[in-house]
Amino acid sequence: MSNDIYAKVSALAKEERLRHGKASPYVGYVRLEQSTSKHNGSPIVAVDTIKGCANNCFRCYANRISRFKAKVHNQPVRCVVVGNPVPDICYRFGTFGDPASDWQWTVEQLDNLEARGMKKYYLVSKLQNIKGFPNDRGLNIHVSFDLFDPDQLRTTMVNFDRIDAKRVIRIKTLLSKHTCLMRSQKKVVAFAVRRGVPIIETRFYTQVKHDLKLLKLVAYKRVGKIFKYDGSVLRDVYGLDSHLMCSDGEGGLCCNCLNCLKLIEQMNGG
Ligand code: SF4
Repeated sequence: MSNDIYAKVSALAKEERLRHGKASPYVGYVRLEQSTSKHNGSPIVAVDTIKGCANNCFRCYANRISRFKAKVHNQPVRCVVVGNPVPDICYRFGTFGDPASDWQWTVEQLDNLEARGMKKYYLVSKLQNIKGFPNDRGLNIHVSFDLFDPDQLRTTMVNFDRIDAKRVIRIKTLLSKHTCLMRSQKKVVAFAVRRGVPIIETRFYTQVKHDLKLLKLVAYKRVGKIFKYDGSVLRDVYGLDSHLMCSDGEGGLCCNCLNCLKLIEQMNGG
Protein backbone atom coordinates (compact mmCIF):
# COMPACT_ATOMS: atom_id res chain seq x y z
CA MET A 1 0.00 0.00 0.00
CA SER A 2 1.36 3.39 -0.92
CA ASN A 3 0.32 4.84 2.48
CA ASP A 4 2.97 2.63 4.08
CA ILE A 5 5.44 5.24 2.99
CA TYR A 6 4.25 7.58 5.77
CA ALA A 7 4.81 4.91 8.43
CA LYS A 8 8.27 4.11 7.05
CA VAL A 9 9.31 7.74 6.89
CA SER A 10 8.02 8.41 10.41
CA ALA A 11 9.88 5.37 11.80
CA LEU A 12 13.10 6.48 10.10
CA ALA A 13 12.74 10.01 11.44
CA LYS A 14 12.26 8.68 14.98
CA GLU A 15 15.21 6.33 14.68
CA GLU A 16 17.38 9.21 13.49
CA ARG A 17 16.27 11.39 16.38
CA LEU A 18 17.25 8.75 18.89
CA ARG A 19 20.75 8.20 17.48
CA HIS A 20 22.33 10.85 19.65
CA GLY A 21 24.62 8.82 21.90
CA LYS A 22 25.82 10.72 24.96
CA ALA A 23 23.99 13.94 24.26
CA SER A 24 22.77 16.68 26.59
CA PRO A 25 19.82 19.07 26.16
CA TYR A 26 20.47 22.46 24.57
CA VAL A 27 21.51 25.25 26.94
CA GLY A 28 18.89 27.89 27.69
CA TYR A 29 20.42 30.92 26.01
CA VAL A 30 21.50 32.14 22.59
CA ARG A 31 24.21 34.80 22.23
CA LEU A 32 23.43 37.19 19.39
CA GLU A 33 27.07 38.17 18.90
CA GLN A 34 28.03 34.53 18.42
CA SER A 35 25.19 33.88 15.96
CA THR A 36 26.13 37.01 14.00
CA SER A 37 29.82 36.13 13.74
CA LYS A 38 28.94 32.61 12.52
CA HIS A 39 27.00 34.19 9.67
CA ASN A 40 30.08 35.94 8.30
CA GLY A 41 28.62 39.32 7.45
CA SER A 42 25.32 38.01 6.06
CA PRO A 43 22.33 40.34 6.52
CA ILE A 44 20.27 37.29 7.63
CA VAL A 45 21.20 35.74 10.96
CA ALA A 46 19.60 32.61 12.42
CA VAL A 47 18.64 32.77 16.08
CA ASP A 48 16.17 30.77 18.17
CA THR A 49 13.80 31.34 21.05
CA ILE A 50 13.45 27.57 21.38
CA LYS A 51 16.15 25.02 20.62
CA GLY A 52 15.23 21.40 20.06
CA CYS A 53 12.00 20.26 18.47
CA ALA A 54 9.35 17.56 18.74
CA ASN A 55 8.00 17.89 15.16
CA ASN A 56 9.92 14.78 14.08
CA CYS A 57 10.48 15.95 10.49
CA PHE A 58 11.99 13.45 8.08
CA ARG A 59 15.71 14.10 7.40
CA CYS A 60 15.60 17.12 9.68
CA TYR A 61 18.58 19.44 9.15
CA ALA A 62 18.55 20.64 12.77
CA ASN A 63 18.49 17.08 14.07
CA ARG A 64 21.58 16.25 11.99
CA ILE A 65 23.47 19.29 13.25
CA SER A 66 22.47 18.68 16.86
CA ARG A 67 23.97 15.20 16.58
CA PHE A 68 27.34 16.70 15.65
CA LYS A 69 27.00 19.01 18.64
CA ALA A 70 25.99 16.11 20.94
CA LYS A 71 22.74 17.87 21.78
CA VAL A 72 19.35 16.22 22.30
CA HIS A 73 17.16 17.42 19.47
CA ASN A 74 13.75 16.11 20.53
CA GLN A 75 13.69 18.07 23.78
CA PRO A 76 12.67 21.70 23.18
CA VAL A 77 14.43 24.14 25.52
CA ARG A 78 13.42 27.77 26.09
CA CYS A 79 16.29 30.10 25.14
CA VAL A 80 16.91 33.60 26.45
CA VAL A 81 18.35 35.64 23.58
CA VAL A 82 21.33 37.52 25.02
CA GLY A 83 23.03 40.57 23.46
CA ASN A 84 22.00 43.58 21.42
CA PRO A 85 20.42 43.22 17.98
CA VAL A 86 21.86 45.15 15.03
CA PRO A 87 19.07 47.15 13.33
CA ASP A 88 20.30 46.36 9.78
CA ILE A 89 20.36 42.60 10.35
CA CYS A 90 17.31 40.50 9.63
CA TYR A 91 16.87 37.83 12.30
CA ARG A 92 15.41 34.47 11.35
CA PHE A 93 13.78 32.59 14.23
CA GLY A 94 13.15 28.88 13.87
CA THR A 95 16.25 27.04 12.71
CA PHE A 96 17.06 24.66 15.57
CA GLY A 97 13.59 24.68 17.09
CA ASP A 98 10.05 25.76 16.24
CA PRO A 99 9.05 29.08 17.85
CA ALA A 100 5.46 27.76 17.90
CA SER A 101 6.23 25.16 20.53
CA ASP A 102 5.90 27.94 23.14
CA TRP A 103 4.33 31.19 21.89
CA GLN A 104 4.25 32.83 25.30
CA TRP A 105 8.01 32.47 25.61
CA THR A 106 8.71 33.38 21.98
CA VAL A 107 6.64 36.59 22.27
CA GLU A 108 8.43 37.55 25.49
CA GLN A 109 11.79 37.20 23.74
CA LEU A 110 10.60 39.18 20.69
CA ASP A 111 9.33 41.96 22.97
CA ASN A 112 12.69 42.16 24.75
CA LEU A 113 14.61 42.15 21.48
CA GLU A 114 12.41 44.84 19.94
CA ALA A 115 12.90 46.96 23.04
CA ARG A 116 16.67 46.51 22.56
CA GLY A 117 16.56 47.65 18.90
CA MET A 118 15.60 44.65 16.73
CA LYS A 119 13.87 46.00 13.61
CA LYS A 120 13.72 43.21 11.00
CA TYR A 121 12.82 39.62 11.68
CA TYR A 122 10.67 36.70 10.62
CA LEU A 123 9.75 33.33 12.05
CA VAL A 124 9.73 29.91 10.42
CA SER A 125 7.23 27.43 11.82
CA LYS A 126 5.13 24.37 11.09
CA LEU A 127 2.37 25.94 13.22
CA GLN A 128 1.55 22.78 15.15
CA ASN A 129 0.50 25.01 18.03
CA ILE A 130 -1.16 28.45 17.95
CA LYS A 131 -2.10 28.78 21.62
CA GLY A 132 -0.91 32.24 22.61
CA PHE A 133 -0.15 33.31 19.01
CA PRO A 134 0.14 37.12 18.95
CA ASN A 135 -2.53 38.01 16.38
CA ASP A 136 -2.21 41.70 17.15
CA ARG A 137 1.37 42.36 16.11
CA GLY A 138 1.53 41.67 12.35
CA LEU A 139 4.26 39.06 12.61
CA ASN A 140 6.15 38.00 9.48
CA ILE A 141 5.82 34.25 9.49
CA HIS A 142 6.96 31.60 7.03
CA VAL A 143 4.78 28.55 7.47
CA SER A 144 6.36 25.23 6.46
CA PHE A 145 4.16 22.63 4.75
CA ASP A 146 5.64 19.16 5.14
CA LEU A 147 4.33 16.45 2.82
CA PHE A 148 5.76 13.56 4.83
CA ASP A 149 3.38 13.80 7.77
CA PRO A 150 -0.34 13.96 6.81
CA ASP A 151 -1.52 14.66 10.38
CA GLN A 152 0.89 17.53 10.87
CA LEU A 153 0.10 18.83 7.41
CA ARG A 154 -3.60 18.97 8.28
CA THR A 155 -2.84 20.87 11.49
CA THR A 156 -0.61 23.31 9.59
CA MET A 157 -3.42 24.00 7.10
CA VAL A 158 -6.06 24.53 9.78
CA ASN A 159 -3.83 26.75 11.91
CA PHE A 160 -2.63 28.73 8.90
CA ASP A 161 -6.14 30.13 8.46
CA ARG A 162 -6.64 30.78 12.16
CA ILE A 163 -3.79 33.22 12.69
CA ASP A 164 -3.54 36.87 11.79
CA ALA A 165 -0.05 37.56 10.41
CA LYS A 166 1.92 38.38 7.27
CA ARG A 167 2.18 34.85 5.97
CA VAL A 168 4.43 33.12 3.47
CA ILE A 169 3.96 29.46 2.53
CA ARG A 170 7.08 27.32 2.39
CA ILE A 171 6.38 24.15 0.42
CA LYS A 172 8.89 21.36 0.77
CA THR A 173 8.44 19.94 -2.72
CA LEU A 174 9.40 16.61 -4.19
CA LEU A 175 9.02 14.65 -7.39
CA SER A 176 8.00 11.09 -6.62
CA LYS A 177 6.20 8.10 -8.06
CA HIS A 178 4.27 7.69 -4.78
CA THR A 179 0.80 8.84 -5.75
CA CYS A 180 -0.17 9.70 -2.15
CA LEU A 181 2.77 12.11 -1.84
CA MET A 182 2.01 13.75 -5.17
CA ARG A 183 -1.70 13.99 -4.33
CA SER A 184 -0.91 15.68 -1.07
CA GLN A 185 1.51 18.04 -2.80
CA LYS A 186 -1.16 19.01 -5.33
CA LYS A 187 -3.53 19.83 -2.44
CA VAL A 188 -0.93 22.05 -0.79
CA VAL A 189 -0.21 23.88 -4.05
CA ALA A 190 -3.95 24.50 -4.57
CA PHE A 191 -4.23 25.70 -0.94
CA ALA A 192 -1.39 28.19 -1.48
CA VAL A 193 -2.62 29.43 -4.84
CA ARG A 194 -6.17 29.94 -3.51
CA ARG A 195 -4.93 32.15 -0.72
CA GLY A 196 -2.73 34.22 -3.01
CA VAL A 197 0.07 34.46 -0.46
CA PRO A 198 3.76 34.44 -1.43
CA ILE A 199 5.27 30.98 -1.86
CA ILE A 200 8.83 29.82 -1.30
CA GLU A 201 9.75 26.43 -2.65
CA THR A 202 12.06 24.57 -0.27
CA ARG A 203 12.93 21.42 -2.19
CA PHE A 204 13.35 18.18 -0.31
CA TYR A 205 16.95 16.99 -0.47
CA THR A 206 18.74 14.09 1.14
CA GLN A 207 22.21 12.81 1.85
CA VAL A 208 20.97 9.22 2.02
CA LYS A 209 21.06 7.39 -1.31
CA HIS A 210 18.49 4.83 -0.16
CA ASP A 211 15.88 7.64 0.06
CA LEU A 212 15.80 7.76 -3.74
CA LYS A 213 14.37 4.25 -3.77
CA LEU A 214 12.26 4.52 -0.63
CA LEU A 215 10.55 7.72 -1.80
CA LYS A 216 10.58 6.68 -5.47
CA LEU A 217 12.14 10.01 -6.36
CA VAL A 218 12.26 10.96 -10.00
CA ALA A 219 15.09 12.87 -11.71
CA TYR A 220 17.11 13.44 -8.55
CA LYS A 221 20.81 14.09 -9.07
CA ARG A 222 23.81 14.12 -6.79
CA VAL A 223 25.01 17.68 -6.19
CA GLY A 224 28.08 17.58 -3.92
CA LYS A 225 27.07 15.54 -0.87
CA ILE A 226 23.33 15.69 -1.44
CA PHE A 227 20.70 14.37 -3.83
CA LYS A 228 18.23 16.90 -5.11
CA TYR A 229 15.91 17.78 -7.95
CA ASP A 230 17.77 20.31 -9.98
CA GLY A 231 14.85 22.53 -10.94
CA SER A 232 11.57 23.85 -9.61
CA VAL A 233 8.87 21.24 -8.99
CA LEU A 234 6.29 24.02 -8.67
CA ARG A 235 7.21 25.33 -12.09
CA ASP A 236 7.85 22.04 -13.86
CA VAL A 237 4.79 20.16 -12.53
CA TYR A 238 2.24 22.88 -11.70
CA GLY A 239 3.29 25.68 -14.03
CA LEU A 240 3.83 28.22 -11.21
CA ASP A 241 6.42 30.82 -12.00
CA SER A 242 5.91 33.65 -9.54
CA HIS A 243 7.27 31.83 -6.49
CA LEU A 244 10.75 32.14 -4.99
CA MET A 245 13.17 29.27 -4.47
CA CYS A 246 14.85 28.70 -1.11
CA SER A 247 18.64 28.41 -1.35
CA ASP A 248 18.47 29.93 -4.81
CA GLY A 249 22.04 31.12 -4.52
CA GLU A 250 25.55 29.91 -4.80
CA GLY A 251 26.20 27.25 -2.16
CA GLY A 252 22.54 27.23 -1.05
CA LEU A 253 23.18 29.55 1.89
CA CYS A 254 20.99 32.42 3.11
CA CYS A 255 23.92 34.83 2.73
CA ASN A 256 23.91 34.13 -1.02
CA CYS A 257 20.16 33.85 -1.44
CA LEU A 258 18.40 36.58 0.58
CA ASN A 259 14.95 35.64 -0.72
CA CYS A 260 13.53 35.81 2.81
CA LEU A 261 14.84 39.33 3.16
CA LYS A 262 13.30 40.33 -0.18
CA LEU A 263 9.98 38.90 0.98
CA ILE A 264 9.81 40.68 4.30
CA GLU A 265 10.74 43.96 2.64
CA GLN A 266 8.02 43.39 0.06
CA MET A 267 5.43 42.44 2.69
CA ASN A 268 6.28 45.40 4.88
CA GLY A 269 6.02 47.75 1.94
CA GLY A 270 9.77 48.52 1.93
S1 SF4 B 1 14.90 31.45 0.97
FE1 SF4 B 1 17.07 31.97 0.96
S2 SF4 B 1 17.27 33.39 2.62
FE2 SF4 B 1 15.32 32.29 2.95
S3 SF4 B 1 15.85 30.49 4.25
FE3 SF4 B 1 16.01 29.86 2.12
S4 SF4 B 1 18.21 30.15 1.65
FE4 SF4 B 1 17.77 31.37 3.43
